[in-house]
Amino acid sequence: MKRIVVAGAGGFIGGHLARKLKDMGHHVRAVDKKPLNQWYQVHEGVDNLVLDLTSKENCYTALNGFNEVFNLAADMGGMGFIENNKADCMLSVLINTHLLMAARDLGIARFFYASSACVYNGEKQTDPNNPGLKEADAYPALAEDGYGWEKLFSERMCRHFREDYGMTTRVARFHNVYGPFGTYDGGREKAPAAMCRKIIDGELYGKDEINIWGDGHQTRSFMYIDDCVEGILKIMYSDIIEPINLGSSEMVSINQLVDIVEDIAGYKLKRTYDPNAPKGVRGRNSDNTLIQKYLGWEPTYPLAAGMKKTYDWIKGEMLKKK
Ligand code: NAD
Repeated sequence: MKRIVVAGAGGFIGGHLARKLKDMGHHVRAVDKKPLNQWYQVHEGVDNLVLDLTSKENCYTALNGFNEVFNLAADMGGMGFIENNKADCMLSVLINTHLLMAARDLGIARFFYASSACVYNGEKQTDPNNPGLKEADAYPALAEDGYGWEKLFSERMCRHFREDYGMTTRVARFHNVYGPFGTYDGGREKAPAAMCRKIIDGELYGKDEINIWGDGHQTRSFMYIDDCVEGILKIMYSDIIEPINLGSSEMVSINQLVDIVEDIAGYKLKRTYDPNAPKGVRGRNSDNTLIQKYLGWEPTYPLAAGMKKTYDWIKGEMLKKK
């Protein structure tokens, strides 16, 4: 049994990870800046702490007496959020910096950092038929402005704390993660949850139109939350010292994603397109050669199956509100 801190545990991925670690028998401390009643999941038997981790002092308080840290805390959201809140996204650098300093000074044995596919060079993502981004494609650096640069910088901070202070740091580059207990409205939601919400909205309120950002031909891959949590644990306890992709390689266009949700719902809408909405890069996929080589594993949860679970959960939440 270890004593483990999950930073950002009031959010989507952190909430799932905290539950998994607790179920594995560890003593878990869940930390987030949001008031407890806004956490996506609050688990019994977990030590829940509301702290703003941009503060150095709070990072020392959060980590004192613990052995390991998973840092999933960041000011983040889908393209609509990160394109319009670049400074806020970059301020997350304070969280990882202060957590690393506290971890170094308090003798934390292992430290995990959640990076993102947004670190990849934009010029390698101009074709919707993206063959998959390899880890080396982050350099020469031309990351997503704001959010992606913060992730790239924080990755390197983990590397140099490992090299200079002998810390054990692990970094995964998540490609879009989706599933139940995630953000589905309010402006921070990502495409899978947004599509579910828009189609359920149509079903529940008799709307017949869905608005899609961009032309719908832009491509992405989406990783189901269970694969994400499994991958985080595999990478944390591996010998992989460099940042590594953690994502599905099942690439689809946004139009295909809408097809999947419409099939699940059994409800079709007329599509309109907004070319001026935030849409991110043209094509992105995860090259999983490296994770296969090191772990003999990669995320494989089928998109249609994961979307069905996500859709059912969001519909349940929306029905409660209705
Ligand atoms: P999320 O927004 O649901 O969770 C992040 C949590 O961090 C939130 O609950 C937020 O309140 C908390 N937080 C923000 N600032 C904080 C602070 N100063 N102190 C304490 N807590 C703070 O996001 P998520 O989808 O669970 O993402 C988790 C991590 O994974 C983030 O680092 C994110 O950048 C990264 N990531 C996520 C995805 C994805 O598709 N969800 C993709 C790539 C990378």
